[in-house]
Amino acid sequence: MEKFIILKGGLTNQYLLPCPGGYLMVEAGDEKDFARFKGKLKKAGVDPREIRYLFLTHHHGDHAGFAARLREISQCRVIAHRDAAEPLKKGRNARVKGGGLTSRRAMLLAGIMIKLNLGLSLRFPPLELGENDILVQGDDNKLLRDLGVPGKVLHTPGHSPDSISLLLDDGSCFCGDAAMSSLQWLGLRYCCIYMSDVEENYRSWQKLITAGARTFYPAHGRPFKPEALKRNLNRFRQEDLVIPGRRRV
Ligand SMILES: [Zn+2]
Repeated sequence: MEKFIILKGGLTNQYLLPCPGGYLMVEAGDEKDFARFKGKLKKAGVDPREIRYLFLTHHHGDHAGFAARLREISQCRVIAHRDAAEPLKKGRNARVKGGGLTSRRAMLLAGIMIKLNLGLSLRFPPLELGENDILVQGDDNKLLRDLGVPGKVLHTPGHSPDSISLLLDDGSCFCGDAAMSSLQWLGLRYCCIYMSDVEENYRSWQKLITAGARTFYPAHGRPFKPEALKRNLNRFRQEDLVIPGRRRV
């Protein structure tokens, strides 16, 4: 496929994949980054109305935060996992029993970012999905091809139950928060700072690698290779998670 566009800067990366009539964009971003996002889009020479689809890797506020506003100006169709519909409608990060932070340092940082409103909002403008939007049930090898994008959708839970990834036939993998390369100084070992189910998350890594992922393009951080995940596989266990309110920092 024609090379895609990466919009960096801000907490969350956006990726614009060419499709017939415009772009399929992977991820929106935090609500307060909307003006900055529009600036990046303009700089890239893309009109918001060219965004035909918005692929949300999951419902969290730093991904879906400005999705409602973007849909208003672009009329894009949203693609998300069916389990994202409810929390998107509420405009609120869903709590998952047993989920927690990858380390105490991660918990401290997340706490500070939420308190100071540094782009990690747990609440965001609600997004109600309708007939025009597309909910995926799980793995889907047909949907993207029908839209003219050569790739597939894979259900990759572990960061959140509704996490999905987009894998292009050339091995480019847009994995959302299933894995990330930023904040490695926190000792994250390519995991996100929050996980709902650690073992499930590692199974998702293996699933993506087995499916042919050759370069990972995460929502947070720079691209990386599968070797990074292979090196760090199964480094955490569910018991290692720090659950806010349950253990002292
Ligand atoms: Zn997330």
